[in-house]
Amino acid sequence: MTEEQKRIKELEEEVSRLKGLAYQDELTTLYNRHGFKEESAKFIDEVKGYLENPSRRENFLIKSLSLGIFDIDNFKKINDTYGHQAGDEILKQASKIIKEKVRGIDIVARWGGEEIIVGLVGSDENHAFEIFDDIRKKIEEKTKVTVSGGVASFTEGGDFDSLFKKADEALYKAKQTGKNKIVKASDL
Ligand code: GH3
Ligand code: MG
Ligand code: MG
Repeated sequence: MTEEQKRIKELEEEVSRLKGLAYQDELTTLYNRHGFKEESAKFIDEVKGYLENPSRRENFLIKSLSLGIFDIDNFKKINDTYGHQAGDEILKQASKIIKEKVRGIDIVARWGGEEIIVGLVGSDENHAFEIFDDIRKKIEEKTKVTVSGGVASFTEGGDFDSLFKKADEALYKAKQTGKNKIVKASDL
């Protein structure tokens, strides 16, 4: 390897390291919002292709995608009662549980404060619901704190924003109807 090639390799490694940092949430080590969008785009394109090309469906490997949005219940009260640091620990634990309960191909990100978004690749809404409800129970068991969630699946003619909106409306319903539950967008 010449000096020039060596330098190029070093720079490439540096770019990849910085890209990793730009896409990562520091507290939870999950993807951040930017990372989620970047990672989910290729799967959304694939599912879109599948849904929009009935005659060529065998060419597409990924046929569905479901989105879940989790939000910790009464988190402000938890911070106020036990302190911000304890709140941070709960956020980290919940993130870890979610990562452990999904596959490597699935995308988990911190969307904002105490909201975690999960893209389940290849899962329909019912299957995603089962996984998210299992996560909900596990978080309660391990942290004694509850979460609410909304789940929606990608449909023909949709895009990320419409999928997000549906999952968010389902989350809102979960909050409105007593929290500590997952609501399916198809049940709205
Ligand atoms: P709800 O059940 O309706 O979701 O109520 P909530 O109290 O969880 O919701 P609200 O939006 O009123 O408050 C969210 C709280 O989350 C307020 C904010 O201080 C806290 N929060 C956001 N990000 C972090 C963080 O990184 N660490 C900690 N410890 N708290 C955070
Ligand atoms: Mg919130
Ligand atoms: Mg909350």
